Amino acid sequence: MSPEAVAQPLSALSHTPIDFPQPYSTEAFDQYVMSTYARYPLTIARGQGCRLWDTAGREYLDFVAGIATCTLGHAHPAMVATVSSQIQALHHVSNLYYTPAQGALAQWLVQHSCADRAFFCNSGAEANEGAIKLARKYAHTVRQIEEPIILTAHASFHGRTLATITATGQPKYQKGFSPLVPGFHYIPYNDIAALEQAIAELDRPTPRVAAILLEALQGEGGVNPGKVEYFQRVRQLCDEKDILLICDEVQVGMGRSGKLWGYENLGIEPDIFTSAKGLGGGIPIGATLCKAKCDIFQPGDHASTYGGNPFACAVALTVCQTIERDRLLENVQDRGEQLRRGLRAIAQKYPEHIEQVRGWGLINGLVLQQDSPMTAPDIVKATMAAGLLLVPAGPKVLRFVPPLIVTAAEVDAAVAAVEQAFAQI
Ligand SMILES: *Cc1c(COP(=O)(O)O)cnc(C)c1O
Repeated sequence: MSPEAVAQPLSALSHTPIDFPQPYSTEAFDQYVMSTYARYPLTIARGQGCRLWDTAGREYLDFVAGIATCTLGHAHPAMVATVSSQIQALHHVSNLYYTPAQGALAQWLVQHSCADRAFFCNSGAEANEGAIKLARKYAHTVRQIEEPIILTAHASFHGRTLATITATGQPKYQKGFSPLVPGFHYIPYNDIAALEQAIAELDRPTPRVAAILLEALQGEGGVNPGKVEYFQRVRQLCDEKDILLICDEVQVGMGRSGKLWGYENLGIEPDIFTSAKGLGGGIPIGATLCKAKCDIFQPGDHASTYGGNPFACAVALTVCQTIERDRLLENVQDRGEQLRRGLRAIAQKYPEHIEQVRGWGLINGLVLQQDSPMTAPDIVKATMAAGLLLVPAGPKVLRFVPPLIVTAAEVDAAVAAVEQAFAQI
């Protein structure tokens, strides 16, 4: 598909839509699908750029992007071209063999980060599982720690497997699923004194703290950026004690912060970091990356049937190359500033409802006053009626995570829709 095709109306698209069995209803959906999500009564049929259309043909501006996932928006010509050609060439073989796509993606990621090696899987939770296993193996084999402990932060989010709900410092994700995985301890985020105290206590009489797992900016937990002084001190303590610093870059990485990796905003380098969400631009892929020092997995230690398959890797490489070729980091910085400026103007008008606007690049949160009767889900419903899709990050934070290709006009339209929602209060 040529880039020009994208500018044409949807009716002019060359693809043949797949005919799913009709009639279709949300009731039928709920009859067959487990109710793990409280879904909005909205059925999405198509997408292009930063726009989505529901089955009735109504248009929405997509500032959710599959929750910080659709890096290049929808139906991006570069992704369409790669998906089509890679599925025709080779879509899957076992990791018993080499493929050019996996090697090329690993090379790109290593050459554009602090890491030396990559392992591929299919999601953020799996990428964090890989990081946790790697950190435990390092503790056992390099440091002779028998029962390693991994520190994680309150309000963090690391995924939905058993180990990653345990790592997640939010009891609501753990409720009903005990026994949890041993070996995790929680600390308040951005709090140096609490971190020093936790390490001092846990490392007595013998060292046990193996790793510290942190998001450079907490996404689900409320779009809360890490502080430079805090991460500098974390890095220093890790260096002194040979504790591994793991950054969960699943949401904030892949250009979303205005830099390629969130940790670049904090002036530190992790020993291990994880990626997923934006990496595949909406095609499932995850990665655990590490420095040579902790590249200690041996054949048989870790594996994934789908992990690093040529289809997902080719698409992810296209996402990476498009970020570079189209200078998307500059767009992320500029559109991010524009968005925060627009939202701050709204915040000044409604100080009784809005506490602050915070974030980096194109991951931003509008934080509601704790004592305001409004909740983030209320505003999401109001902006949805105005044609803008947003997602809460907790009960009091409205999250803005549009595709990295978002235009100035689309940011203005989103700000106008938010303003309209607040004007209706
Ligand atoms: C979404 C998310 C995960 C989990 O990713 P999945 O692909 O849903 O498993 C892990 N960490 C962070 C920071 C996330 O935002």
